[in-house]
Amino acid sequence: MSHFVAEVVVIGAGIAGISAAFHLAVREGLDGVVLVEAGDPLALTSDKSTECYRNWWPGPGDAMVAFMNRSIDLLERIERESGGRLHLNRRGYLFATAEPSRIAAFRDLGHEAQSFGAGALRVHDGSGSSPGYLRSPARGFEEVAAGADLITDPALIRAEFPYLDPEVVAVLHARRCGWLSAQQLGMWMLERARDRGVRLIRGRVTDVETRGGRVRAVSVARPGDRVRIETGKLVLSPGPYLAELARGFGVDLPVACERHMKVAFRDTERAVPGDAPLLIWADPVELPWSDEERAVLADDEETRALVEPFPAGIHGRPEGTPGEHWLMMLWTWDTETVEPVFPVPFDERLPEIALRGWSRMLPSLKRYFARLPRMTVDGGYYVRTPGNRPLIGPLPVAGAYVNAAYSGFGIMGACAGGELLAAHVCETPLPAYAAAFHPARFDDPGYLDAFASGADGQL
Ligand SMILES: Cc1cc2nc3c(=O)[nH]c(=O)nc-3n(C[C@H](O)[C@H](O)[C@H](O)COP(=O)(O)OP(=O)(O)OC[C@H]3O[C@@H](n4cnc5c(N)ncnc54)[C@H](O)[C@@H]3O)c2cc1C
Repeated sequence: MSHFVAEVVVIGAGIAGISAAFHLAVREGLDGVVLVEAGDPLALTSDKSTECYRNWWPGPGDAMVAFMNRSIDLLERIERESGGRLHLNRRGYLFATAEPSRIAAFRDLGHEAQSFGAGALRVHDGSGSSPGYLRSPARGFEEVAAGADLITDPALIRAEFPYLDPEVVAVLHARRCGWLSAQQLGMWMLERARDRGVRLIRGRVTDVETRGGRVRAVSVARPGDRVRIETGKLVLSPGPYLAELARGFGVDLPVACERHMKVAFRDTERAVPGDAPLLIWADPVELPWSDEERAVLADDEETRALVEPFPAGIHGRPEGTPGEHWLMMLWTWDTETVEPVFPVPFDERLPEIALRGWSRMLPSLKRYFARLPRMTVDGGYYVRTPGNRPLIGPLPVAGAYVNAAYSGFGIMGACAGGELLAAHVCETPLPAYAAAFHPARFDDPGYLDAFASGADGQL
């Protein structure tokens, strides 16, 4: 067994662990940071995402909006420092509804987001008094004002988004949102971290040694070898293995895993333009079937659910050069808690269900029904806390910290999360939102009361 000493050991080289190492070593200037990874960096969950970001979050309070605004500031800084390596755009998130009763909810959401600091709500109702709606460019992020545009003017909706179902009565376009290359973000931070002395050790942390209520060392298993790293500081960023790893040294964390998959195919029929924003259908969906298909499906207990209404939540976006682009479709209607298993199992009917569900929003997708395109499916686990906020900060064992539970927002939140984690470890001043993500918040028995009525912002 080999043996060495580290100042800080970060477990997991997904986007969260890499950002933690980067902020500790590069931004805070700490020496002796070691990053331990059981597989390949960024290859378990962080390369399966839709790579999107948004400053559009519900309450309680403005913590999520403030945290994401900070993270997007940092993403934009990296985009500039790296000479455009992230391909960061600001095309926005476009929520669409065909239900007139939802327009009031869109307006309320816009006002709430504005009060949290997401930017102004602009209403375009065709009355002539509203300011003009400005399109988001396909590339870049400098020219688009933050905030959101609520469009209820039917002519404007048709003119700007002719590919949406003609029954759409309102769209809400949140603007400080878009996407980037998550792999480039991770690799850029990892390269800088390694240049600044961060050591990447390949192997699985099997044991965390504590004594007298303090972290003392970790053991790492590698093929044919074991390494013991003596350290007084440990950062947990092990993605879906968080609960198991923390339990191993006596810490119970309130996290659960949910499976989320995405389906992608080359959109040869151009059902969506390649320069579209991220699209979200805000209404429940009934899958379109012929009468004959419907009767057959309803008759069989195994398939009966396919003729029942599905919950809202369809979202996705075009990927790649417009004209040769793919469509990435996400829709998790089943959000039950599962144990993480790899490779991630999924329902074989998912591609067809997703395509049919998506055709409610993009009717041109029906052109694919007769002959399904070749589709790829991948995905991973959202590691969630009740309330859907990450865990960032110290744990009850002295020297142990967590930077994890990033649910469906780990790419967009990684930069502010790594920065916050580093501030905890280095004992530099904390931002106002730190308390909202501190693991000890769950010690307050009333903590979740404020969440009871609202949506948690998950997509
Ligand atoms: C389908 C899907 C779509 C998504 N879309 C978005 C999106 O649009 N925008 C967004 O911001 N987020 C999105 N996400 C969420 C985002 O991908 C995750 O929040 C993020 O990748 C989590 O990163 P992580 O570093 O915490 O975990 P991971 O990427 O899982 O990394 C954890 C790492 O720790 C390693 N590890 C675990 N245990 C050990 C151990 N004992 N020893 C050593 N190494 C260990 C693992 O091998 C792994 O590499 C999406 C997720 C999914 C599944």
